[in-house]
Amino acid sequence: MRINANYRNIKDSYLFSTIGQKVSAYTAAHPEADVIRLGIGDVTRPLSPAVVDAMAKAARELGTAEGFHGYIPSEQGYLFLREAIADYYARRGVTLSPDEIFISDGAKSDLGNLLDLFDADNTALIPDPVYPAYVDANVMAGRRVVYCDATVENGFLPLPDEGVHADLIYICSPNNPTGAVYGREGLQKWVDYALRHDAVLLFDAAYEAFIEDPSLPRSIYEVEGAERCAIEVCSFSKMAGFTGTRCGWTVVPEALEREGMNLNRMWMRRQSTKYNGTPYVIHRAAEAVFTEEGYRQCMESIAYYKQNARIMAGTLDQLGIFYTGGVNSPYIWLRCPGGLDSWTFFDRLLEQANVVGTPGEGFGANGEGFFRLTAFNTREKTAEAMQRFERLARSL
Ligand code: PLP
Repeated sequence: MRINANYRNIKDSYLFSTIGQKVSAYTAAHPEADVIRLGIGDVTRPLSPAVVDAMAKAARELGTAEGFHGYIPSEQGYLFLREAIADYYARRGVTLSPDEIFISDGAKSDLGNLLDLFDADNTALIPDPVYPAYVDANVMAGRRVVYCDATVENGFLPLPDEGVHADLIYICSPNNPTGAVYGREGLQKWVDYALRHDAVLLFDAAYEAFIEDPSLPRSIYEVEGAERCAIEVCSFSKMAGFTGTRCGWTVVPEALEREGMNLNRMWMRRQSTKYNGTPYVIHRAAEAVFTEEGYRQCMESIAYYKQNARIMAGTLDQLGIFYTGGVNSPYIWLRCPGGLDSWTFFDRLLEQANVVGTPGEGFGANGEGFFRLTAFNTREKTAEAMQRFERLARSL
């Protein structure tokens, strides 16, 4: 028997487990320390009342003979939620058929699982820095990975290089970790490149709900030609606080074909073989996000996080520290004060200010010298953390 030897090529220290170990070691040695976490991207606000009501109602329904639901009729997801999502896209002028929408248990699973549709011999193009799961999922499959540089010079929004060929291209906008968001022109360049190279774009829109600037696309399908080259992956995690509830969706357009095969049919086949569907109760909870009341409540939580981001940005402005993000995104990406490298700044921030952030280097080589803070903590803790941050930064 032979194992998948590609696993030998995965870097063994996963960013967040290393951070977790450092924080545990620090708190074990200093049990009195009040450590504030602005590191990991989990949310803190509770689920909205409309969502909880829908979930409870669905649970009660399952306890009745008439309302019981067993295996889902289609692994693609119940039509009522796919229609609600199609309507969400229609509000900004994107026409999708519910048959192009697949309900998932969150973006992370599908971002990895979609690779089943593509040969291991393809080349994946991944921005650096970016959400670490893209690289690992490709390394596990033995795929060749090339990087495109996201830097201060290009506003952390790299554009395609005609001299580099790629078959699979990852775009994350609004970006984790940099908070940078592509405009229409930039996305059009990627779509045109993908069409010219017969490539497929995997567009991660997990943070689209944070976009407030109406000129910025929230979906890749707002861009001409994207339905012929792009798959979009989205999530209720940050939009509606479903990080523990687990639900997302993936759009595979009917028009997306490669080598005479229809990718929508292939994904349907893949899901019906390897996925038994998202639970009914979760479908109903997610459906409630798109009701008038549910959406308003979810947007209130997003506004709360954005106010945290403004507090963070205000401190950085006062200190004259370079940063991106925080407006159309819950992430702030800053240059480490005092010219420190990102793990040294992580240690200083933890030990001297009792604040946890995420070292930029963990997101890729270009993240060295940068640091990510998230706006997902409470107002009080965010404000307190930024006072401590300021004191530390002035001392460096
Ligand atoms: N994509 C990006 C860019 C993320 O930052 C995250 C989570 O932090 C995910 C996907 C995963 O989202 P989900 O909770 O839907 O699996």
